[in-house]
Amino acid sequence: MINFSRLLKVRETARDVKKHHNKRADEVPKHLIRYANVKAPMVIWNITRKCNFSCDMCHLGSALEADSDELTTQEALEFIDHMASIKVPMISVYGGEPLTRDDFFTLAGHAHNSGLRIILSSNAALITEKTAREIAESGISYVGIDMDGFSQISGRMDVIAGLEKAKPAMEYLKNAGVGCGVRITIGDFNLSQMSPIIKAIENTGLKRFAVCQHIDGSDWKAVKKERRKIIDYLIDYAVENPEMEVVTEQLYDDGVYLLQRVAESDPGLASEMEKLLARQGGCPAGDRIVNVDYLGNVHLCPYWQDRTIGNIREQKLSDICFDEENEILAKMKDKTQYLKGKCGRCVHKHLCRGCGARAEEMCGDLFGADPACYLTEEEVAAV
Ligand code: SF4
Ligand code: SF4
Repeated sequence: MINFSRLLKVRETARDVKKHHNKRADEVPKHLIRYANVKAPMVIWNITRKCNFSCDMCHLGSALEADSDELTTQEALEFIDHMASIKVPMISVYGGEPLTRDDFFTLAGHAHNSGLRIILSSNAALITEKTAREIAESGISYVGIDMDGFSQISGRMDVIAGLEKAKPAMEYLKNAGVGCGVRITIGDFNLSQMSPIIKAIENTGLKRFAVCQHIDGSDWKAVKKERRKIIDYLIDYAVENPEMEVVTEQLYDDGVYLLQRVAESDPGLASEMEKLLARQGGCPAGDRIVNVDYLGNVHLCPYWQDRTIGNIREQKLSDICFDEENEILAKMKDKTQYLKGKCGRCVHKHLCRGCGARAEEMCGDLFGADPACYLTEEEVAAV
């Protein structure tokens, strides 16, 4: 993810990063984890495929029923113990809808009591006043509300109406003392609505939102055109509204684009921002994050389900992630050396590293050029 707001406040963020540089994973504030010097990856854990919504744009393979072979409570508890033993810096719990699992609070509470930091991604439909209290009691500090479910109205995407429906859940979380933000999906269907959507987010009282791109098939040309306009809008918004945290997901070239825009007006700030982006190191797949699905399969990232590097039922996560013989993992750690095409030529590749999931899907080569990069050849060549 690229956090425009924290990057724009680069001096403050850099000072915080330095302060926490050599601390244990559980002592580093969650917003600084991506800059921290920790060995174990953050785990994005899809604990069930069961979801109470059936969104057209779901990329998680969700279904109305759980898979009969999902990790059992005992298997999940043992996995949590293992993650605690290797000091995983954070678990980000996804689904389906995680709250559909009957043992959700048993697992969350166990993770918290084992010293693990846990954040939840939910569609909010099951968050009542009581659930919000249970979320707080189980030690979850933050809930990211995915707006896709509530926003799908008669086959259309209406984020503003969705935000209205999610408002009570946000209020319950706030009253329970749990941090909360929203994730919205953008695409040609709401490009012209960015301003009223953000106004609606402001009206909920939230102080953080993340933007995720709807990618329909392989029409990357359309995505790139949309993305650039939206990112311009979001950068201007983040500059003018420093109290709101503005985050984008899936495309690390957003960081390079932000850097180039800042360099036009403030080269000093851009130079500090570049150091921070280099420290973040672009796409974290298989290096600083891994994804574990509801069957225990380990993937390089949640958007890369076709590439499995092991299964926690057969091997410990540490044996999978720290396997020095695994050629793909070794190359992912040192990815800039292997990038090809436009990403290989890019002078900013150490800040971004392209997207292997998209490159592999489009051209069959995970080190090929990221088809979604919206920077021009001139921009990727410009120092
Ligand atoms: S060319 Fe590749 S490495 Fe460079 S900014 Fe674009 S996606 Fe990132
Ligand atoms: S492989 Fe692509 S989708 Fe996965 S973390 Fe990297 S940039 Fe994001």
